[in-house]
Amino acid sequence: MKKFVYLFNEGNSEMRNLLGGKGANLAEMTKIGLPVPFGFTISTEACNAYYENNQSISSEIQNQVLQALSELEAETGKKLGNPANPLLVSVRSGAVFSMPGMMDTILNLGMNDETVEGMATLTNNPRFAYDSYRRFIQMFSDVVLDVDTFFFERLLEETRENKGYSSDPELTAEDWKEVIVGYKQIVKKHTRKSFPQDPKEQLFLSINAVFDSWNNQRAIVYRRLNKIPGHLGTAVNIQSMVFGNMGNDCGTGVAFTRDPSTGENRLYGEYLINAQGEDVVAGIRTPQPIHTLKQEMPEVYQQFSDTCKVLEQHYRDMQDIEFTVERGQLFILQTRNGKRTAQAAIRVAVEMVKEGIINKDEALLRVDPDQLNQLLHRRIDDKFERTQLAKGLPASPGAATGSVVFDADEAEILAKDGKKVILVRPETTPDDIHGIVASQAVITSRGGMTSHAAVVARGMGKACICGCEAIKIDLAAKEFYVGESVVKEGDIITIDGGTGEVMLGEIPMIEPELSNEFQQLLVWADEVRQLGVRTNADNPEDSQKAREFGAEGIGLCRTEHMFMDPTRVPLVQEMILAENYDERQIALSKLLPLQQGDFEGILEAMQGFPVTIRLLDPPLHEFLPDKEELIVECTKLQITNPNSEELKAKELLLKKVRQLDEFNPMLGHRGCRLGMIYPEIYEMQAKAIFYAVATLADKGVEAKPEIMIPLVGHVNELKQMRQLVIDAANLVKEETGREFVYTVGTMVEVPRAALTADQIAEEADFFSFGTNDLTQTTFGYSRDDAEGKFLQAYIENKVLPDNPFAVLDREGVGKLVETGVRLGRQTKPELKTGICGEHGGEKSSIEFCYQTGLDYVSCSPYRVPIARLAAAQATIRFSEKDVETLVVK
Ligand code: ADP
Ligand code: MG
Ligand code: MG
Repeated sequence: MKKFVYLFNEGNSEMRNLLGGKGANLAEMTKIGLPVPFGFTISTEACNAYYENNQSISSEIQNQVLQALSELEAETGKKLGNPANPLLVSVRSGAVFSMPGMMDTILNLGMNDETVEGMATLTNNPRFAYDSYRRFIQMFSDVVLDVDTFFFERLLEETRENKGYSSDPELTAEDWKEVIVGYKQIVKKHTRKSFPQDPKEQLFLSINAVFDSWNNQRAIVYRRLNKIPGHLGTAVNIQSMVFGNMGNDCGTGVAFTRDPSTGENRLYGEYLINAQGEDVVAGIRTPQPIHTLKQEMPEVYQQFSDTCKVLEQHYRDMQDIEFTVERGQLFILQTRNGKRTAQAAIRVAVEMVKEGIINKDEALLRVDPDQLNQLLHRRIDDKFERTQLAKGLPASPGAATGSVVFDADEAEILAKDGKKVILVRPETTPDDIHGIVASQAVITSRGGMTSHAAVVARGMGKACICGCEAIKIDLAAKEFYVGESVVKEGDIITIDGGTGEVMLGEIPMIEPELSNEFQQLLVWADEVRQLGVRTNADNPEDSQKAREFGAEGIGLCRTEHMFMDPTRVPLVQEMILAENYDERQIALSKLLPLQQGDFEGILEAMQGFPVTIRLLDPPLHEFLPDKEELIVECTKLQITNPNSEELKAKELLLKKVRQLDEFNPMLGHRGCRLGMIYPEIYEMQAKAIFYAVATLADKGVEAKPEIMIPLVGHVNELKQMRQLVIDAANLVKEETGREFVYTVGTMVEVPRAALTADQIAEEADFFSFGTNDLTQTTFGYSRDDAEGKFLQAYIENKVLPDNPFAVLDREGVGKLVETGVRLGRQTKPELKTGICGEHGGEKSSIEFCYQTGLDYVSCSPYRVPIARLAAAQATIRFSEKDVETLVVK
């Protein structure tokens, strides 16, 4: 015979899966002798049995419930339904993971026309008894019988008005009696049945209702969002009532053992005198802060604060505790690990190590790396009030203030004049990149958390709000509306990308700073982690920021961003339009000193840490104007000014644009394929790097460039490009008389490179897995199209578990990474390996990188602290033997 029902003294906190979170903790607290009203838990397995049995409780389980009930009656000396000494209970749902979608708690079950009289006599407090009964009718009807609370509230309001009362406590016992008559009529009208008087019937109806609520719409949606499996089921807790509403020596409250927003070690919470559980949250009366309990009930306060210490020591974590005081006696009704802000999570973890409650490894595991995002961006100073204008999806955290602009070009022009702007668009496309770069933040009225704007903004660490549908944009008029309000181009707004709020005007901000506790935690992380953490940075400012956050080098420095600087685009176009080698050389020689300057800045900021520099990657047409726009301009000029020089120039440009036009630029003439056909471009870049190294050497600054050839698919490509780099290095060495060290490697971002990694390693000193493109090429998805068109549906319908551009796809892309590392190290055991896709800043992907034996991960500057923590967690979770040791056989 299977056991489905457990008394509180038969369980413990380890039995969470069976008893649910609430039930397991009630049992645990009973076990350690805390004052918990007695009761029993019907297990999650009973919930599953209920569904297997066509949504009814089997007689087997009914018997076990009745058996437990009689033991509860024996323990309390009361009896369900006995007017002389009635047992009243609460019915509380309790899933394994706390779930807001589940059934609301029912209090005072066991009340009926007879027991209410008994309660009145026993307590010598008829008012209390009738008030409790009417509360029970209202709650039970709402939760079990599906009769809306509204009808009851309306009746109560009418009664108050008729009698000239302004609040509930003014109602007398006689008044409540009248209300109860009315309540019963409401029930009869809506359910066509009388309110159930048999307490056992009340009990089983409630248990059914809890089990049913496991599969209500709210609960299903919540489970899907939070990836909670549906087969877990919920438990039901039946607990004898204690009353906080018997008079002024009673009360009820909720408290955290530490401040959940700052982490400070002090009791934090509130309570109400003469009230029942639901009153604190209902907001009818304003609760008092917990510390005033010290004056009102000194002994209870002392006992409560001692209990908090006991619970914290016992669970070794900050607790969130519900309590009730009945006639001066304290009862604990719930405890659980308290939810907290990132700031509090860090402080609590670090201080608990210092207090000797947990060790360093545990502290590191206590903080969720994802949560740290909150702390690593500029944010709105909470001291100032904010009035929300509209709200969209919180697509990329951080806060920003700026004037509204509706066009990427305009954003760029204004930014160049030193203006702070926020780009507002229906949605963004790759053509808007320069505008995003120039803006403080981005708002789109369409698109989701994985839309182009969201992805790009997150990559750049910029605040972004997507799908802000309340905003109606009129691009032609250069304004947007929210209801009645109009916001015009140039108006100042402030946004909070972490909450999705848009506000009018400027609100002061605070810069992200790493608190002392945060730095302490990261120092501990560095002590245990084995993965290196580098950053993706293309300019000296980002490099500097990343150093402050603890980056140990640059894993990806993209050189095309240097070309995209508006002052350089004409030079780049000159280079592209060159008709022959000599003309191109002239253009390149003008670009060389500019590139050299960039490299000097970045290498100097990295102070001897390695810097992986990727040679030019995007197809050349990205540096030329848009084809459609050019055609329009040419057509206009043909009419207005047919013989002009301007027209000739534009036509020449259009010819070149047409030559470079590609069907599928993603798979076209780009990456090392550019270097193979126009070696002089890569040669210029390589020389610029080595001149920079030589110049820094003169200043006594050490630099370690790692030159990376993008998009290699065949070893012959790398062989040729590597030779080109070596030749450039030798030339600069000869010219400057300087000796310097450098390495040459490749980005592994097409499947063929991973599959032939043994050959490619012959020519490479390092591999850097470019998992953004490797994901595109492995799935055969173009990211922009996928995220804009079908990926969201794939994830919602569980075709894919996650967005593979956010969380590395271990089974497919991951297998290629593993293969690449293994084959590469077969050829070169010392081969250095890293990852430089966006995955390098995501915790699950970082864990995979550690398990696969990579040397480092690289991510955007603001994610460096996240990566340091995630790398430490991976080390703690997987001992060395779990890590695939990829040695040559
Ligand atoms: P939730 O999960 O929504 O917090 P709970 O089951 O914890 O629901 O209960 C709701 C309120 O009722 C809480 O304030 C709780 O303390 C109170 N409560 C629950 N059971 C009892 C009981 N047996 N006696 C007194 N108050 C109770
Ligand atoms: Mg609760
Ligand atoms: Mg690429």
